[in-house]
Amino acid sequence: MVTNYTSAYSVTLPQSNIETMNALGMKLRSVLGQSCPRCHQGDLFINKNPYKVENWDKMHADCSHCGLHFEMEPGFFQGAMYVSYALGVAFSVAVVIVNVLVGFNPLVYFVANTVVLILLAPFIFRWSRALYMNFFIGYDASLAKSAKSSDSLIQTPGV
Ligand SMILES: [Zn+2]
Repeated sequence: MVTNYTSAYSVTLPQSNIETMNALGMKLRSVLGQSCPRCHQGDLFINKNPYKVENWDKMHADCSHCGLHFEMEPGFFQGAMYVSYALGVAFSVAVVIVNVLVGFNPLVYFVANTVVLILLAPFIFRWSRALYMNFFIGYDASLAKSAKSSDSLIQTPGV
């Protein structure tokens, strides 16, 4: 007797759940890639290397692809400090969990947590700003495409 189990175990999510997951995936892509939250094409930071000492924290004023002004209002990125704090706590909790799994030692925890937070500080800074921007700005595929197509129309003057 042959029984087809595939239909019994197939999972169909409601369309709204799929759209929510897609939106979260797109935001995650923007945050981890440190790209413009609106078009995902332009870079947020001048230098892609977060450990470049002289300009690790310097951002572009506007998106090079869609023209979005990143600092939407004066002091906008002060809100990212709260996100940065939450990320720091999350990484500290992760270090605690690992430390508990290998046998908790307060001195090892202190040293490990200090090293992890110092090494991740540039990433936490960048991820917090990108996350904070993604709270307010959604991905716009049509804008990304239109901005991309307009790039091809740019001609050098006098040619
Ligand atoms: Zn953009």
